[in-house]
Order: sequence, then structure tokens, then C-alpha cells
Amino acid sequence: MSNEPVVIVGGGLAGLCAARELSIHGVDVLVLESGERVGGRVQTDIVNGVHMDHGFQLYNTGYSEGQRVLDYQALDLQPFSSGVISTTPRGRIKLGDPRELVGWLPGSIASGSLPSKAAFIKYALSQSRKSGEEITRSVDGNAHAVLASAGITGKFYSEVIQPFFAGVFLESELETSSRFMNMVLKTFVQGKPSLPSAGMRAIPDQLANALPAGSVRFNSAVTSISPTSVRVGAEVINARAVILATDSTSAAELGGVRAPRWNSVTTWYHLAPMGTLDEGKPVIVVNGGAAGPITNSVVLTNAVPGYAHDAQLISTSAVGIHERELNLKEYLSTMHDTDASQWELVGHYPIARALPAMTPPHSFSPPVEQDGVYVAGDFQASSSIQGAMVSGRRAASAVLSNVFGQLEDWDSDV
Ligand SMILES: Cc1cc2nc3c(=O)[nH]c(=O)nc-3n(C[C@H](O)[C@H](O)[C@H](O)COP(=O)(O)OP(=O)(O)OC[C@H]3O[C@@H](n4cnc5c(N)ncnc54)[C@H](O)[C@@H]3O)c2cc1C
Repeated sequence: MSNEPVVIVGGGLAGLCAARELSIHGVDVLVLESGERVGGRVQTDIVNGVHMDHGFQLYNTGYSEGQRVLDYQALDLQPFSSGVISTTPRGRIKLGDPRELVGWLPGSIASGSLPSKAAFIKYALSQSRKSGEEITRSVDGNAHAVLASAGITGKFYSEVIQPFFAGVFLESELETSSRFMNMVLKTFVQGKPSLPSAGMRAIPDQLANALPAGSVRFNSAVTSISPTSVRVGAEVINARAVILATDSTSAAELGGVRAPRWNSVTTWYHLAPMGTLDEGKPVIVVNGGAAGPITNSVVLTNAVPGYAHDAQLISTSAVGIHERELNLKEYLSTMHDTDASQWELVGHYPIARALPAMTPPHSFSPPVEQDGVYVAGDFQASSSIQGAMVSGRRAASAVLSNVFGQLEDWDSDV
């Protein structure tokens, strides 16, 4: 019995972080992953040197759990600028942090009403000063209603804030929990959205490479679970404890966990000839009402030149599921203020199960144990890399405490 490992079902960020925490406390782990790679929803395809993440994703250096478990230097994180370009019916408006994007100050002043902008800055700064615990305990509401009651309205809301958060929440109405929005604002004030130079998959790869050899088994889809065993087809694997760290739909099927609905997104990748787009700045271009179904578009090679060789790589996303052949070139020309007609479409990623919806009131720490099985996954904290990672550590801590009698100094991070 004592030689049996703790079995972790799912090799996404939640499962890998649970495995990491247990391993460093001397516990044997076995991660069973149904796919051929670790990382779950964090993947990068590299085709002819072009790096295409599975959907436009960014890692924020302000994530407290990432600061604990990742080696940022080895990831070679490449930051984005603190600014956005909004494509509006009146043209492109550039908004930036004046300390970083000096020349963009006039646009920052011209877009939307000053009171609305001042209200947003005040609101974001006030959230950044709160502890994670204060945010999770605050009154929850729909993000759009909370922003409106804070005075963030009018064109500044519709042309900048709404399209920006639509790209973060992957839903356009901003019905997502304001607690989560506040958490996002806190990390945006405290950290930098970035990409690892080798692609987003470098994050799960780094976590997996630090585990003892043989800790992860691939092509092992778990078909049923109990508190002390799992089944992979006909094979039964006994376990000291089981951590269910799959996506929420699989967790519902295997463990009866209540699964939220999914928010979906489609991302396209285009290659453009070498040149200068968006002044060479790594900024997010949001759709402030001027350009079809697109939510945002980003010249990734402005942040990470190595994402493509001898070309510029542009990632474009729209909320929901869309066809490969959606005619984007006209919109992209407007959004990037160029002629995009010759750009080459090189990737199309419709992702139906991208983010578990977080409707208010959202709990960042629902019960970790269900019917004797420990549950991790972003839906157990927040739909983000931080949420997935922290949920893994929380499940591991519960196992260490309940099964191994090791009391951890849990800092109630979220
Ligand atoms: C398009 C997109 C954009 C995003 N953008 C951002 C962003 O910018 N910033 C941010 O912080 N977060 C972002 N996220 C969210 C973040 O990527 C996820 O919240 C996080 O990766 C979820 O990790 P997880 O381990 O909880 O789940 P998953 O990554 O889903 O991992 C679950 C794993 O379980 C495995 N599995 C499932 N069933 C079984 C089974 N029966 N047996 C064995 N294994 C099984 C799966 O194969 C998978 O590997 C984005 C996500 C997407 C999809």
C-alpha cells in the first residue's frame, strides 16, 4: 500500500503543479495523461519554424503561483507593451502608458471621455492594492455592471475596455465575475503580459521536466476513478490518493463534478512580409467597433521575433467558433493600417472548450475533495494559468495533509 503513488489524472498545468508539490515533499506521483504531450490547453505547434500557440494566450509575470514554481529566466519571457490600439469607426486610437509609449500620449488623451478614463485608472489601481483574499471576498457582480457603476462608460468603455476584456474572458457581454476581472486588473498592474521565446508550451514543458523521470505516462485515458484506484481501459492502477486534474467536462464525466459552460474562441495565424507593423511595438490591437467579428489582433513577432523566421506573424482572434475561410484580410488591413491582402493564412484554431465561464458569484476555492477524490483544474480556482496552477497546489496540499499528515503552510493564494 505505502509504495503506491498518488495518481494524478491529467497532465495540464493543474496536474503538473499538483505533481510538483507532492514530489518536492517526497511523495511518489504518477500523472496519467490521455494525450501525447503535457500542457493540456497550453500547446504550441511549430510548423516550418512558425510558432502557433493553441489560441492567443499570454503569461502574466504577476501571477503569484508562477513566481513560485516557474524559472522565468529559463523561459526567456518576452514582454508586451503596456498599451493597446483600438480600431474605431473614427480610425485607430493608440493608448499607452506614457512612461513606456511616450509618443502615444495624445491618443491616450483623445480617446473617450477623460472622466471615464480617470475612473478606470482609479479603479484598476484600487484593485491592484487589494490582497487576493480581499478580492475573492468582495461583492461579486457582472464585470460590465461593476465597471458602469465605477463610472467607466461611453466610448472609452465600448472602444477600449469592452473589446479588451472580451478577449480576456472570451465572451463579449462582459458577464464574467467582477472578482475575476479585479484579479486580472491586479496582475496587469503588477506584472507584464509575456510570451516565452520558445512558445507557450515551454511553460508546461518546464514543469514536467522538473518531475522525477517516469512520473508522466502518455496515451493513458482514465476511464473511471475511485478514492484509491483508477482504471485505464482494462488496467487498474492502485493509488494512495487520486487527484482529478482534467478539464471540467472530463471531471464531470469521471468525478461527478459540476461543470460550468465553456467560452469559445477562434484564432487565425497569418504571415506577412518583413516590415514594420504597429510601429514595431508588441501591442494588442482591439476591435473598438470598426472591424467585423474580430476581437483582437497582435503582431506576435513584435514581441518575439523568433516566433517566425524572415516574416511577421500575426495572431487574430474572435470570440466563438468561426470558419477557416472567414474573409479576414479587409478587417486586418483596417486593424493594422496596412494592405493585408497578400498575407498568408498559416493556422486556424477553433477552440470550443477554451475557458470555463465564471459567472458571479464566483468561488475561487470550492471544496477540493469530492467523494474521497481530490479535484484540481482551472474551474476550481479561476480560468487562467494562475488558477490552474494554484488549484493543483491546493489539491496537493490537501493530500499531503489528509493522507500523509504533512501540514502545509497554505497561504490561501488564489
Ligand atoms: C485559447 C485560450 C486562451 C487562453 N488565454 C489565457 C491567457 O492569456 N492567460 C491565462 O492565464 N490563461 C489563458 N487561458 C487559460 C489557461 O490556458 C487554462 O486555464 C489552463 O491551461 C487550464 O489548465 P488545466 O490543467 O486546468 O486544464 P487542461 O489544460 O484542460 O488540462 C487537463 C488535462 O487533462 C487531460 N485529460 C482529460 N481527460 C483525461 C482522462 N480521462 N484521462 C487522462 N487525462 C485526461 C487533458 O488531455 C489535459 O491535458 C487560455 C486558454 C485558452 C484555451
